[in-house]
Amino acid sequence: MEKKQLDWANLGFGYMQTEKRYVSNYKNGAWDEGAITEDANIVLNECAGVFQYAQTIFEGLKAYTTEDGRIVTFRPDLNASRLADSARRLEMPVFPEDRFIDAIEQVVKANTEYVPPYGSGATLYIRPYMMGTNPVIGVKPADEYQFRVFVTPVGPYFKGGAKPLTIRVSDFDRAAPHGTGHIKAGLNYAMSLHAIVSAHRDGFDENMYLDPQSRTKVEETGGANFIFVTKDHKLVTPKSDSILPSITRRSIMYVAERYLKMEVEHREVYFDELKDFEEAGLCGTAAVISPVGKIVRQGEEICFPSGMDEMGATTKKLYDTLTGIQMGHIEAPEGWIRTIC
Ligand SMILES: *Cc1c(COP(=O)(O)O)cnc(C)c1O
Repeated sequence: MEKKQLDWANLGFGYMQTEKRYVSNYKNGAWDEGAITEDANIVLNECAGVFQYAQTIFEGLKAYTTEDGRIVTFRPDLNASRLADSARRLEMPVFPEDRFIDAIEQVVKANTEYVPPYGSGATLYIRPYMMGTNPVIGVKPADEYQFRVFVTPVGPYFKGGAKPLTIRVSDFDRAAPHGTGHIKAGLNYAMSLHAIVSAHRDGFDENMYLDPQSRTKVEETGGANFIFVTKDHKLVTPKSDSILPSITRRSIMYVAERYLKMEVEHREVYFDELKDFEEAGLCGTAAVISPVGKIVRQGEEICFPSGMDEMGATTKKLYDTLTGIQMGHIEAPEGWIRTIC
């Protein structure tokens, strides 16, 4: 299929409406067969569960073109199972995991003109989500749901190199102990908007959230997990029941251990330890890894030795190895890359 004439390298991270998306509806206890449709709009009753009690969850993954010209996705089975976990936590019906992967494939195939070419740095961002659709006024789960998947081409995350970020420790909390921090739900983002807007206003790129109970341990940012590298080159990643289990972070841990022969520690990380680390980064589907140069807490600065000009050396190796696996230059672990066409 012909590609759209888009300036791939200069696309931002924004929504561009494409012609096709996938929709399946849940009613009377069952999902319908689902289909590709051209209607980008959703018409719902004013009292739909999603509007009243925020019953909505989502996922995010990418399709892209490898060096040998295949269109692939990266570990979509993990997005399928994470959406199922999110659904169970919000009393929503699970969209079957095999059907999730099939839906992703259908949408990408229907939008191949929008899959950026290899080497452009751009990717096709895929957004699966689900919401309660029937009227709900007494507080309870909806009875009817819609699962949708749309795609939008997005540009290279770092134009002109990855500049290290400056992060502040937020005065707000992201997720309560035993709450919903571990699921990918819109509600976790709604409450983070005020914190991120005020962080930006104060000149910071992101917020670091600490554990709300003791405010001594590192959790994550609003939409990315942390990775740290110690002076003796161990990879350390924070562990907590209220951190969203990032697929990128889990993949980086595997790459560090199996490809780079690093020691990997997934454990509680105290804020007081940060000053002893060599490198820091944020990880998630959008950027893969963004280097962190500085963390600020009430005017006190922690500056990582890797500095404010470029990614730390070990972070760069992790980034190059993981993106090499994704792009097909480096052999991938079994099952990581799923060829769509
Ligand atoms: C989506 C998300 C991440 C990143 O997860 P990936 O699977 O790597 O994209 C991290 N933290 C939060 C809160 C998220 O919503």
